[in-house]
Amino acid sequence: MVQHALSCHEAFLRLNDYVDRELSPAEHDAVAAHLFDCAKCASVFEFEADILADLKAKLSRIQLPPSLKDRVLEAIQRGAKAADA
Ligand SMILES: [Zn+2]
Repeated sequence: MVQHALSCHEAFLRLNDYVDRELSPAEHDAVAAHLFDCAKCASVFEFEADILADLKAKLSRIQLPPSLKDRVLEAIQRGAKAADA
């Protein structure tokens, strides 16, 4: 597969999935390469990564009801099994 350099628009469209680590390795590399070359997109990425880190820190401080926590853990385990198959 030939890798073409991403435009800013293409990189921007993938930025959320990049932050969430949901891209394929090839797409992840393409976005990483663009962020390395493009100061404009790199600053947007840092901004988004900061917000996400902040959100995760807030979520980790929220007490979930045990039943909900169990359901979430179960869903994560099911997802992990599906990813293995
Ligand atoms: Zn760019």
